[in-house]
Amino acid sequence: MTIEKIDTLVIGAGQAGVAMSEHLSKQDVPHLVLERNRIAEQWRTGRWDSLVANGPAWHDRFPGLEFEEHDPDSFVPKEKIADYLVDYAKKFDAPIRTGIEVKNVERNTNGQGFIIETSQGTIEAKRVVSATGPFQVPVIPPIAKNEKITQIHSADYRNPEQLEDGAVLVVGAGSSGVQIADELQRSGRKVFLSTGPHDRPPRSYRNRDFCWWLGVLGEWDRESLEPGTEHVTIAVTGAHGGNGTVDFRALAHQGITLLGMTKEFNNGKVTFQKDLNTNVERGNKNYMDFLDSADAYIERNGLDLPEEPTARDVLSDPECMTNPILELDLAKEGITSIVWATGFALDYSWLNVDAFDENGKPAHQRGVSTEPGVYFVGQAWLSRRGSAFIWGVWHDAKHIAGHISTQRTYSAYQDASQR
Ligand SMILES: Cc1cc2nc3c(=O)[nH]c(=O)nc-3n(C[C@H](O)[C@H](O)[C@H](O)COP(=O)(O)OP(=O)(O)OC[C@H]3O[C@@H](n4cnc5c(N)ncnc54)[C@H](O)[C@@H]3O)c2cc1C
Repeated sequence: MTIEKIDTLVIGAGQAGVAMSEHLSKQDVPHLVLERNRIAEQWRTGRWDSLVANGPAWHDRFPGLEFEEHDPDSFVPKEKIADYLVDYAKKFDAPIRTGIEVKNVERNTNGQGFIIETSQGTIEAKRVVSATGPFQVPVIPPIAKNEKITQIHSADYRNPEQLEDGAVLVVGAGSSGVQIADELQRSGRKVFLSTGPHDRPPRSYRNRDFCWWLGVLGEWDRESLEPGTEHVTIAVTGAHGGNGTVDFRALAHQGITLLGMTKEFNNGKVTFQKDLNTNVERGNKNYMDFLDSADAYIERNGLDLPEEPTARDVLSDPECMTNPILELDLAKEGITSIVWATGFALDYSWLNVDAFDENGKPAHQRGVSTEPGVYFVGQAWLSRRGSAFIWGVWHDAKHIAGHISTQRTYSAYQDASQR
């Protein structure tokens, strides 16, 4: 049996794997990218049909290529993002092999580097880069496992027609939950949205998109959360031509019934925490703080951007906030489906090396693992807030490729007697 040998093996060909390959190519690092499906598969089949990028086309892309067919301020549909990544990989002839799954990676006990078992044979590599995605395994809290009702994760939601007739309970009000609830309500469904703590930046303010604001305010580059604060979900949408800030009061006036965090299920009845108003108010404060920071930036830099006082208008409290619902009878409300927009976990069951901390999370510094020769790219907060996003992963990949190149230089060093 012949074993293929390569310097660096990248696992996964989403945006992270493609960016990694570009930078490794630039550094002349011999490498191979293995992808179990197709390039950028998640953007094709891993998300709902109507999804568009959350950031405008000028922002949500790699520096080396624009979205040619799209206005820079428009929001690119998901399939087009996948096409873009395929085109991008072609641009530099990325050595990507698709349809090959990496089943196991472990240290080579007989030599340097790693032995990689794949669905199509064994490979030896000096280095491995995991680019297997920040959102891998859909997580559904087990609180409703005994309920006899259709339940799907947002990862399996495609469109309103997929769900049986009836009202829908959407649990989770980050970008996915909000967009799915909005789409279901607009399709004529009765929708309930269980809303936890969230941030909600303005879609745009004073003629600039929030992606621009996060950039100039240094927020994309923020390296970690402020001590004592926990990560909360961010509610944004590029839907409807990027025409709207997520405003929970507005969603309620539109017809969605807001609820607090989902507490427990018991024989067709669901209870909710009394935190709806706190969560909405906290999101509102986050929004207002954002406007304050933007105003201060404009003032400090003497920018001539039009004032937008109406951005500070707050809608009246809807009925679901003045009289919060704390318990729902699913049958009585005609709820026939639950969509869990409750996030994802990581899965490194295939990576059997000493690269994880006591909580099973990758132990690394800016993607360079504590286990020499192992790298991670594409994870949320890998080096900064922007790390899991299209433009951010490109910069992390550059750093990691630089590290690999430097290590190769050390390995290639020869002393006087060897030269
Ligand atoms: C609903 C949603 C909307 C988003 N919208 C935006 C947005 O608008 N803008 C933005 O910048 N970001 C957005 N993101 C965040 C991020 O850009 C995407 O999650 C993106 O897909 C991450 O790219 P990635 O390459 O890191 O991972 P993925 O796209 O998940 O790619 C990882 C690849 O690894 C492969 N793989 C995994 N395990 C193996 C294995 N063992 N062997 C071989 N291959 C393997 C998978 O098949 C997959 O193709 C969104 C995320 C979600 C969930």
